[in-house]
This record gives sequence, C-alpha cells and structure tokens, in this order.
Amino acid sequence: MNILILGSGGREHALAWKIAASPLTTKLYCAPGNAGIAQQAECVALDINDHAAVAAFAKEKTIDLVVVGPEAPLCAGIVDDLEAAGIMAFGPTKWAARLEGSKGFTKDLCKANNIPTAAYERFKQAGAAKDYVRKKGAPIVVKADGLAAGKGVVVAATVKEAEDAIDMLFGGGLGQRAWEIVIEDCLVGEEASFFALCDGEAAIPLIAAQDHKRVGDGDKGPNTGGMGAYSPAPVMTPQMNQRVMDEIVLPTVAALKRAGAPYKGVLFAGLMITDKGPQLIEYNVRFGDPECQVLMLRLMSDLVPALIAARDGQLKNFDLRWYADAALTVVMATKGYPGTYGKGSVIEGLDRAAQVEGVEIFHAGTKADGNKILANGGRVLNISARGKTVAEAQARAYQAVDRIDWPDGFCRRDIGWRAIARAR
Ligand code: AMP
Repeated sequence: MNILILGSGGREHALAWKIAASPLTTKLYCAPGNAGIAQQAECVALDINDHAAVAAFAKEKTIDLVVVGPEAPLCAGIVDDLEAAGIMAFGPTKWAARLEGSKGFTKDLCKANNIPTAAYERFKQAGAAKDYVRKKGAPIVVKADGLAAGKGVVVAATVKEAEDAIDMLFGGGLGQRAWEIVIEDCLVGEEASFFALCDGEAAIPLIAAQDHKRVGDGDKGPNTGGMGAYSPAPVMTPQMNQRVMDEIVLPTVAALKRAGAPYKGVLFAGLMITDKGPQLIEYNVRFGDPECQVLMLRLMSDLVPALIAARDGQLKNFDLRWYADAALTVVMATKGYPGTYGKGSVIEGLDRAAQVEGVEIFHAGTKADGNKILANGGRVLNISARGKTVAEAQARAYQAVDRIDWPDGFCRRDIGWRAIARAR
C-alpha cells in the first residue's frame, strides 16, 4: 500500500516508524514531516490545511490510505473531503470530530448519556458566567469552547482567578474572542490518557498512558503540550480499563452512531481517576503527543491492518497484541519553551544516543541542513525507550539524553516519577 501521513510532530514520527515497519507498506509519504520522519518516509511540502491539494497529491501518487495526525485538519473535515474524493482516510469526520472541537458538544453528550464527567454549565455572556462562578465557589475550571492548542483551560484556585479567566477568554486573550465558554467543577484524582480504536460501531481499547503537562520537574511551572509520557499507567488497572470502556467509550460511540455521526478513528479520553471512578475531562480525536510515542513502542501487532479495520467498520473481531515491556518518552525542548524560543540551534550526538539499548528517538520539531540537524520548534525531540519496568525505560531514556549535545535544549529529569514511586 502507498500510505500518506499528515503532520510533522513526534506523534507522526512514531506513526511513521510503526507504519514503515509494516509488511503492507510499499511507499510511505509524510506531509510536511520533519528531519527524523525523513528516515522512514518521503517528506512532501504540502499544506495539510489545503484539503484539495492533499487530495490531488493522493490521487497523483495512488495513495491507498491517508492517516491524519493532528486535530485541526480533522475538525476542519479533511477525512470527509478525502473520502468524497475516493481516497481512504483514517480519522473521524468533521461531525464526529466535534468531540474535540467543541467542549460544549461533548459535555452535553455526556449529560444526555450518563457518561461520568464534571458538572458544568455553558455560557455566552461574561456576566452570567461570573454569577455562576460566584455561586459555585472555587476551585473551578473555565474553558473556551473551541480548539485552543491546550491554552483554553484555566483551573482557577479562587473566584477572582475564574472571573479573570472569563474576561480573558471573552476579551480575546487567546487571539480571538471565545464565542462560548464551559465552566465546570474541579475534579480531584490522578490523570490518565486512555485510547480506543473505533470503527463507528465497535471499539477496542488500546493501552493507557500518563503524560506530564507542566514544564518543570515536580510537575511545576506553566502547562505545555506535554514534556514526557509513559505506559503502562499504574492507576489504569484492568478493572479501571474495563470501566472506562463500559462507562465512557462505548456509550460515546453508541451515542454518536445514533446521532448520525459515527466515530471512526482513535478516541483519546483524558481522564481523572477519582475516588468514585473514572471521570471524563475531555476527548481528543487523535493520538496524544507524546503518548503516541510510547503506545507505538509497546504495540507488537502491525498498526496498518488496525487502521484499515477501523476505517472499514471491521473492528468487531479485531485484536491487537502489546509488549509487556514499559515504555517512556522524554521530550527535549528549546530553552524558553513554552514561551518564546529561538530556532536553528545545532543538535549533535543523536546517533550515539540512539545506540543505547531499547532507545528510539522520535523527532518532533527538527530540520535538516546538509548533514546537520537543527532545532525547528518548541518541542524538538522525543527520547523514547522500552524497558522491563518504567524505571528501566526511564534510565535508558536519560542515558540517551545525556549523549545528546544540544546546549540550547532542556528536558525534565523526572518523567515517570509517579509510576516509579508507586513501584517502590
Ligand atoms: P483539557 O484541555 O480539557 O484537557 O484540560 C487541560 C488540563 O486542565 C487537564 O489535563 C487537567 O489537568 C486540567 N483540567 C481540565 N478540566 C479539569 C477539571 N474539571 N478538573 C480538574 N482539572 C481539570
């Protein structure tokens, strides 16, 4: 098969690594890709927001399957457009992608189907939103309705902070004025990322992972796109996985089918595991980044038939096998991230780092310049490793990190601490 991956991050590099290893793959392309992805795929300079250009390229190269990495093209309907052009595409349609594109849509779906999630209200006016916050008290969570690249959520410790967040979101603090916000109760517990593959009707669980969103050691400092991840997540016991499937994922898939928007693709449930059980924080309609990197390291089965089965509605009798090994990924970012940072610094030592046992390096934001690898973004590298335990995977990943010579880069030194502390 000729396969085209859309995207350019560490998630897409991990997908490219796994898909390139499939005996079903004849030729792999990635648009736009990065310097690491270029080792597995031919990178093409396509604008993935230009659906017609992607369709034209897919026709020209007789692409048999397009795998969409990020949420923005999914929410913009790229799967609908590719399928309408006769091109097989993996991922949800625009209607089904509302699970990520609109927090209000998802909250209403949860309420209507008894799916456990924080109590909430939706608001279009700042005044009513503030009245609600004053009535409920703090801590409380204020969210912009649409896609906001992780910046649209404020967990407010005080009523004043919540009021300020309401003003910020309605005042255009995210670049454009929020047209609607959701205010919800603050959940207490341990967070986990749960993934399921869905075919519109059936869903099979993938595995769970945990990530570290804060920039600094000890989970301190501002939120980021994710500074590292590991799997398995100790909090996700087999019983908890089953509860998530029964109480959250399967009712969601059934509800979307009834609503005429069957969900196909990866469903990523951001969970809070509370005293009362799993609660849905949010849905994403694609693999997590950096969770995908550890999922791909633990996946023993071929990914390509699974993607096709999901797209074709054939998951009912499908099964995937996983390595018992743990996997962990450390994100190396450019100094300054998640604030402002420079581009173009030289990264050396990658080959030596990749020789550490069990290590796989995925590129998130790099660019090749002749033989040199240059940093080309905030999150730049995912130093990933398998090991018998999370602790072993962590030791291997940091051994590789220490072989990388990149003065402009930094990483957290404690990825996986929660799992390692539990195992002690
Ligand atoms: P989201 O973009 O909805 O995943 O939110 C980003 C982060 O905010 C989550 O990963 C949580 O850490 C936190 N968060 C969101 N909603 C809640 C909630 N209701 N209670 C506690 N924390 C939350």
